Amino acid sequence: MRVLVVEDEVRLARTVRDGLAEAGHSVDLAHTGPDGLWSAQHRDYDVVILDLMLPGMSGYRVLEALRAARVWTPVLVLTAKDGEYDEADAFDLGADDYLTKPFSFVVLLARLRALLRRGVHPRPAVLTAGALSLDPAAHRVLREGEPISLTPREFAVLEFLLRHAGRAVSKAEILGSVWDPHYEGDGNIVEVYVGYLRRKTAIPAGAPGHIETVRGAGYLMRADGDPR
Ligand code: CA
Repeated sequence: MRVLVVEDEVRLARTVRDGLAEAGHSVDLAHTGPDGLWSAQHRDYDVVILDLMLPGMSGYRVLEALRAARVWTPVLVLTAKDGEYDEADAFDLGADDYLTKPFSFVVLLARLRALLRRGVHPRPAVLTAGALSLDPAAHRVLREGEPISLTPREFAVLEFLLRHAGRAVSKAEILGSVWDPHYEGDGNIVEVYVGYLRRKTAIPAGAPGHIETVRGAGYLMRADGDPR
């Protein structure tokens, strides 16, 4: 696979490059945000490994700009434990996975393979259901054209429901996608967030965009044209 590593810690970047090269992959390095963005936009990669704290332009902005430019190359974000950003922010901006530094090379390789298996799914620019529209690239939710202010986590839950509108999704699916894949906390947290979202979106029951509770199954976001 062709991999772009955007990481300003030169030693770490080289270690990753050498390891991947040894595993038979072709790797380019970029050490600043602008260089990384340019390469990711103008060259063809199977996956991008993106550090968040970068000179020139944060990885956060690089990712935002990439998705806004409709570049859907899978991105694995590297976060520092004490970093300014967390994984929820990264997922909100369209990262496909993340690793917290320090990480083992074996784990990195396994995550990259998993990303490749998943493949590239072009994301629709804007997701809609009824009066609601969510723009993942612009990180914006509108209700009848009026912006709704959501926290990053609320945004991620709403995006997940919109992406699966018209089918019931379980709490476990939502947890697995929106929270850390290894989150072992209480699934009731999903209920809490669905409650916030119902209040903030204020879509009446039965209308497209409403989040229904499906007993024994989870939640269903009504899609446009769903029978009542
Ligand atoms: Ca860094």
